[in-house]
Amino acid sequence: MLLEETKLDLSRDGTVYSFLNWASQKFLRAGITSHRLDAEILIADGLKISRTELMTHPERILNRAEEQMLCSRIERRVLREPVSHITGNQEFWSLDFAVNEKVLTPRPETEILIEQCLKALEKISTPVRILDLGTGSGVLSIVLAKEISQCQITALENSALEIARKNALHHAVTDQICFVSGDFMQIDWQGPYHLIVSNPPYIASENLLTCMPEVRQYEPPQALDGGEDGLDYYRYIVPMAWEQLEKNGWLVLEIGHNQASAVVEIFEDCSRYQDLQVVQDYSGYDRVVLARTMNG
Ligand code: GLN
Repeated sequence: MLLEETKLDLSRDGTVYSFLNWASQKFLRAGITSHRLDAEILIADGLKISRTELMTHPERILNRAEEQMLCSRIERRVLREPVSHITGNQEFWSLDFAVNEKVLTPRPETEILIEQCLKALEKISTPVRILDLGTGSGVLSIVLAKEISQCQITALENSALEIARKNALHHAVTDQICFVSGDFMQIDWQGPYHLIVSNPPYIASENLLTCMPEVRQYEPPQALDGGEDGLDYYRYIVPMAWEQLEKNGWLVLEIGHNQASAVVEIFEDCSRYQDLQVVQDYSGYDRVVLARTMNG
């Protein structure tokens, strides 16, 4: 192993391209599947250039300070710290969001939740009132605020709201979003709303231990842990949302890929929703359950 390390070090000729190959190899040996992509993102972001610029100028020579700075990024990733925590940001809905270890890094599949909210709201006359339960980095509220200019959003979050506020400011939607600090299982939701959306914690407690190291060691457990069977939040949200929604108001929830039938059952047990739908993400997994409240 040592010999191999030395060989790899010698193969670094000072160019950014050889550094990229070296980093990618290190990631591969650390068991990171997206090794090449991660190396490109971390290096380009560290040098404050685009990935295209990185690839079109492979001959760029790294100075000592740059090399040290990049090496420290590479070491962090080898320990399986998420790329988003190292760069401090994550793209979602083609927008850039600040993230840190206190909030769940937004996942690409959560964009399906946005698509379904926009579809559900098509027929509702503005101004629309929306509630976002457990806003985290604020992505759902902020994207909806940008997409629907005539809407007012209440965003509840139990932990720190600094990141969500920072993102709202960055995307110039602070006047549309009212951030409220508190546990949504305890505080008043201040309804009624036309739509309630949430990506609640939904991993069964014991499965948290077998998640990827990036999730298990670095992401906030309170944003992931959905109790013994992962369904605690759905059992609370579904009946409560009915009381906090307008007639024909929509409840749109992200779910784990194997939870559709259990969550559908929770909706059905409540007997107060209609038009129940399960929607798949782009990998073909069940990802969103939505329904609208009955008229009477
Ligand atoms: N999709 C996340 C994961 O699998 C979980 C998000 C959540 O619990 N809401 O890591």
